[in-house]
Amino acid sequence: MVKFIKFVFCILSFTLLYGCQKQELYKDNRVMMGTVIEVSSSDKRAAGIVFKEVERIENLLSKYKEDSDVSRLNKSGREIVSPEAMYVIKKAKEFWSLSDGAFDITMAPLVELWGFKDKKYVLPEQGKIDAALQLIGTDKIVFDDSNNMIEFIVPGMQIDLGAIAKGYAVDSAVEKLKEHGINNCLVNAGRQVYCLGDKFGSPWNVAIKDPRREGFFGLLKLKDRAVATSGDYEQYFIKDGRRYAHIFNPKTGYPAESGIVSVTVITNDSLTADALSTAIFVLGREKGEGLLKKFPNVKVEIIEEKDIKI
Ligand code: FAD
Ligand code: MG
Repeated sequence: MVKFIKFVFCILSFTLLYGCQKQELYKDNRVMMGTVIEVSSSDKRAAGIVFKEVERIENLLSKYKEDSDVSRLNKSGREIVSPEAMYVIKKAKEFWSLSDGAFDITMAPLVELWGFKDKKYVLPEQGKIDAALQLIGTDKIVFDDSNNMIEFIVPGMQIDLGAIAKGYAVDSAVEKLKEHGINNCLVNAGRQVYCLGDKFGSPWNVAIKDPRREGFFGLLKLKDRAVATSGDYEQYFIKDGRRYAHIFNPKTGYPAESGIVSVTVITNDSLTADALSTAIFVLGREKGEGLLKKFPNVKVEIIEEKDIKI
């Protein structure tokens, strides 16, 4: 009898141990693209693969990197760029036309004027805003597909891929994971998340932050889906009781005031989620929901000023 109990005990502990071993998640994080990139996966190779791919994309598309395609283009106004930069900037133009100009990557001069690039926030004079508005408009970007040439029509124009390139970087990293046969991983690039596969058979949990208080507003359970949140609570300043955040209305040159404080978009790819969350933040609920009709497989969680009673 004792032998039998010992035998059962061994089997139990083996399965428990083996089960626990199988349930091990490898987590790692690194500061890249101005945010913390967090990777969790049952495969310990995942983080290294993600960081390497994000670094490659950052070196191509970051306006903070001297010799990136974006920085070279912002300096000269006319450049032959990599096929990937061409792809992302043309996708940005698609979202610009679909969102009636609410999504606009040419707003780098405004980001700079208001101090959001170096985090030294300032309320600019109206004259300076009016001058910057002359440089805004993705329709002022010309593409020559024959040689990947991009040209700005107005001297002084600059682009900022802050609202689309993180999504592209996450999508590219997920592709690399799949190429390495890794099908379960959570990639979080500063509220730009991709849930690859599942977590030991259960969906990944993605929390939506409460835009005004500690804690969470909601919890999403997702598999093979992308999530992006744009909000007015990460990069902002308050002056005379008014909050000015880093997402701009390209028509006014002021930080968007649509009544929305946070938009979370859930869809199949991170680039679309990234761009749509910004566009809807600028458009507001009604026009934002109108834009979503053009994107069938998209879910959205909108939190408005009136939803958050302080
Ligand atoms: P989103 O809503 O996704 O994007 C908002 C950002 O997009 C704004 O910060 C602005 O840059 C731009 N934007 C504002 N209004 C609009 C609009 N109407 N349409 C389109 N775009 C708009 N930050 C650093 O501090 N240091 C870095 O070195 C740095 N490197 C980066 C490199 C890359 C490749 C990328 C993609 C981003 C990097 N960033 C860096 C972060 C970037 O500056 C933004 O702060 C960040 O991308 C905002 O993302 P979000 O999801 O919070 O907001
Ligand atoms: Mg985003």
